[in-house]
Amino acid sequence: MKLIRIAISLAALGAALFFFGGLIRAADTNIPIYFPNSKLVVKAEVLNRVTYLPIKQVIEFMGIPYTDALALETLTIRSGNSRLLMTKNSALVSYNDQILLLPSPILREDGRWLAPIEFLTIGLTRLTGTEFRYRAGAPRIYAENVDAPELEMNAQTLGPITRLTLRCSVPLNVELKRDDQRAILAIDRSVDPFRERLDHRDRMVRSVVFDDSDGNAKIVVDTTRDVTDMRLTAADNNRVYFLDLFTKREPVTEAVPPPALPAAPAARPDVIPAERKVRVVVIDPGHGGMDTGAKSAAIAEKDFTLALARKLRSALQTRLGTTVLLTRDSDVALDNEARSAVANNNQANLFISVHAGYSTNKTDAGSSVFVMKENFGEGFTTASATGRDQLFLPWYLGYRIHQQASVSAANFLQEALSKAIPGSKFAVRTAPLAVLSSATMPSLLLEMGNLNNPMNAQTLTDASFQSRLAATIADAVQRFSESPQAAAN
Ligand SMILES: [Zn+2]
Repeated sequence: MKLIRIAISLAALGAALFFFGGLIRAADTNIPIYFPNSKLVVKAEVLNRVTYLPIKQVIEFMGIPYTDALALETLTIRSGNSRLLMTKNSALVSYNDQILLLPSPILREDGRWLAPIEFLTIGLTRLTGTEFRYRAGAPRIYAENVDAPELEMNAQTLGPITRLTLRCSVPLNVELKRDDQRAILAIDRSVDPFRERLDHRDRMVRSVVFDDSDGNAKIVVDTTRDVTDMRLTAADNNRVYFLDLFTKREPVTEAVPPPALPAAPAARPDVIPAERKVRVVVIDPGHGGMDTGAKSAAIAEKDFTLALARKLRSALQTRLGTTVLLTRDSDVALDNEARSAVANNNQANLFISVHAGYSTNKTDAGSSVFVMKENFGEGFTTASATGRDQLFLPWYLGYRIHQQASVSAANFLQEALSKAIPGSKFAVRTAPLAVLSSATMPSLLLEMGNLNNPMNAQTLTDASFQSRLAATIADAVQRFSESPQAAAN
């Protein structure tokens, strides 16, 4: 009985730990050391919570001469006229005429010299000038000026899909490989993961782990058998990647959901949390940069959308005291994913994309408030970008969770605009718009007037009209935020 108990408590220490010669020894850990144009993967040993590196392997890789004096149990490393001398079982290292103190003694095991990781900065940097960087507990080391930008990852369950988002300050090439029940995202350069693993688990994801133990950065997503499809999408010039995991499609109107596949809260307005304030609003000025949008002699759509977005920002800040973010505050190009990502990443409670309309008929003058509608036809997962503003991208379903609230916000906007601009029509319409489809909060797209209509174009360029328009939209946002439909994420 007692023996069994001991066995159990030892097992509780963790499968990787076992007693060995009085030392608590963890399983070997592969640690890549990244140099500017090369890398070395060493097998480190963790003994009594100290990470030891096989130091001869490191200095051989760096081409540093050494003498391993077996009988004296010393290792001497040389660089120019300087030398480092270390002795088995001693934490003292002599560097020329100085003595350096390591936090733990040097070990010698099976012909291997094992030095605590701090030896790199305390000893080797002093001898060779090569700098080393590492984070406590992180199994990787960067040498010299290796550029390893931070990689952030997070995962969200969005009703019927699970989305893993990767974000980096520099463009990455990421390749998706499927391997039975795993999705592997191979990254083409060294990066520094903000977290080694995510806590996220849901019906499609068992674990998300960053792994570069072979010197190649990748994220390994362990998935469940519910995953029937997955898709990798780049955004923001390859600085953002979305991995979307799909399960067998569930019809929104399904009466009795199968037990293993709980219905998305999206389909049930009764579970939308009520009476919460709109705290963060993201405004998306349509188009930008090379993408001018619609154009008339008086104005380009991209300039109108930015001017209106800026006015709307100050109107909302003054009136509601909300945090207001623009997806762009200058004349730059942005793709749809990057636009909705600004809203998603900042946990916005409302997302408004601003556009101007264009009709080949010069006398058309109507405006529209769009909310997302899925393309329920064929090609649920295969439709390619087509149609107006190339906005079709029907496979994202994140918007569904807030569809009721989106419609409600659109109705408030329609009502306010119709009152403020008499004689103008503001239709609430639905369309499969990519910029809305990935947004995970109430979201809508306002399309003002017709730039091909000279009267409309002139009005839209008028600064006082833009201010009035902004004030009217802010009114509608305020009414929406006080309504039970406004939901906080
Ligand atoms: Zn547009």
